[in-house]
Amino acid sequence: MEKWQQCKDLSKFCRTENNKDPNALQQWQQERSKFSAECCWSINDPDLKDYDKEVRLSTHDIYKKYLENGKFSYAEADNNAWTAHYRMLIPLKSKRNVIIKMTFELSTVEKGITNQEIEGIKQLILQIKNIWNGNFALKVTDTSITCCNPIILPIEFDIQFAYKGEKIANGEKNPHKIKLYKIVPQSGAVKRPHLEAGKTFILETDKDRGFNVLYTYAHEFAHALGIPDHYGYDEKTNSIVQYYQPNGKLDDTRFVALKNSQGRDKDAPDADIMNAFNSYKIIKQQGWNIGIAAKKIINNKRYQCDIIFKGK
Ligand SMILES: [Zn+2]
Repeated sequence: MEKWQQCKDLSKFCRTENNKDPNALQQWQQERSKFSAECCWSINDPDLKDYDKEVRLSTHDIYKKYLENGKFSYAEADNNAWTAHYRMLIPLKSKRNVIIKMTFELSTVEKGITNQEIEGIKQLILQIKNIWNGNFALKVTDTSITCCNPIILPIEFDIQFAYKGEKIANGEKNPHKIKLYKIVPQSGAVKRPHLEAGKTFILETDKDRGFNVLYTYAHEFAHALGIPDHYGYDEKTNSIVQYYQPNGKLDDTRFVALKNSQGRDKDAPDADIMNAFNSYKIIKQQGWNIGIAAKKIINNKRYQCDIIFKGK
């Protein structure tokens, strides 16, 4: 801890660097390289930890969705409320990738579905990560030592499939469920695969309807992270989606979600994974939920969390 005390004593010069006091600045220049090497993100820093925690994040903290005419919609309100639930590793101290872990456990299988069909479902679930990996990184800034560079940890998704009762490979304790049908039953106005209550994949094996494809899985997985549809459910009026930034402030960008579950064409300029069938385009706002979750997990005002969007 003695070393860390020296770092703390030196860190006051960070502030003088910002103040541009010439005498302090000169002294600081002499100390700077030593400081960076020994004091930035130092393993001696008692606040610096590796985190491995369960995230429970209400979608109310992730985005706002409301009718374009400003009125309240029961359809949107119903769909606005679920809890994103997963396990998240933030190895801030050991400086490795952030990992979001989610397992989908097969809980119900309609009679007549073959093992080969189940294997097909498993393969699609294991491919979801290929769509989401490589898009985002977590940037953590130590606001108490202003001269240290932020630390940047790529965000990786570890999404597993498990049979009922199977030991879960990634150690996650709260698996999501899969209910598998030949053709999914009617649910409200729709009869297609979806994520029920943010937690249960309602999937189908049918080949002709065209829903049993990777796109469906990558889209529904987004809902499990707390990301909303970029189309609206109201029959008469378009909706607006606005996201909260990792710092908790509502972003100004307003996405128009077309009424009556009307999607965009895959090649439309405003098409993305949440409004256009077969579009794998992910936008920066769809990673902010991870920044909000990271802030909640780290739970230390000293560290500011941002999301770097790399896209791909
Ligand atoms: Zn959706």
